[in-house]
Amino acid sequence: MEPAPTGSPAFRRILLKLSGESFCRPGEGGISVEEVSRIARQVSRVASLGVEVAIVVGGGNILRGAQLSRGSDVIKEATAHYMGMTATVINGLALQDALESMGRPTRLMTSIRMAEVAEPFIRRRALSHLEKGRIIILATGTGSPFVTTDTAAALRGKELGVDVIMKATRVDGVYSADPEKNPHAVLFEALDFDKVLRDELKIMDMAAIGLCKENVLPILVFNFKKEGNIERAVRGDVVGTWIGSGTRPRPS
Ligand code: UDP
Repeated sequence: MEPAPTGSPAFRRILLKLSGESFCRPGEGGISVEEVSRIARQVSRVASLGVEVAIVVGGGNILRGAQLSRGSDVIKEATAHYMGMTATVINGLALQDALESMGRPTRLMTSIRMAEVAEPFIRRRALSHLEKGRIIILATGTGSPFVTTDTAAALRGKELGVDVIMKATRVDGVYSADPEKNPHAVLFEALDFDKVLRDELKIMDMAAIGLCKENVLPILVFNFKKEGNIERAVRGDVVGTWIGSGTRPRPS
């Protein structure tokens, strides 16, 4: 296990939302051991600061329900979403082993029971794991079809009492336009929920943004491709775009 870095973090408990794209090489699907190791290394460093870490894993690198069911009714829409939820377990298992190979204790928890590979998600048990310094990996989203793991992140974030939802993306934060297409796009340092909802800025799905707004749960959108960024953000450095009603907290 790596030694604990010095300096107090700005957050006590975080929820990290890792989309399926964090598990594969850019533009590809499936799982890249290299990418999983890279992300696990970053998470491990954050845990070494003493921050409690819950992770909601997506499954888009394997399957998205809405895409599979579009244009055909051979596979029913609800079934496709259940397939998508099952895909998140594959990512969760990979991340669990990668973190444990770095000496971090973890628990994989699912909303759909899978007793042979994971614990059921039970709020009080999840809280107890966090308090004991275990990283919890939450797979199968909400357990219900027709929503995404972003919504699961907002719900679990609220019930676990996290300080912030950290949404990992491939770009530096939220821009005025798509930075991968428009070179003049401007990066926002901070935004309020009303602007995100009004302008339909593509950060998380709108249901998730609405839940975070209602529950005054800030979101930090940041670039996970830059090594060390999760740790910098947790230390209170100005990284990514802060979405919330207040200002970014600084380390105490
Ligand atoms: N999904 C679902 N209910 C949930 C979470 C996820 O039905 O609560 C399904 C949905 O089909 C989704 C897929 O699982 O497309 C994979 O999750 P997601 O698209 O959120 O993955 P990401 O985009 O984060 O990789």
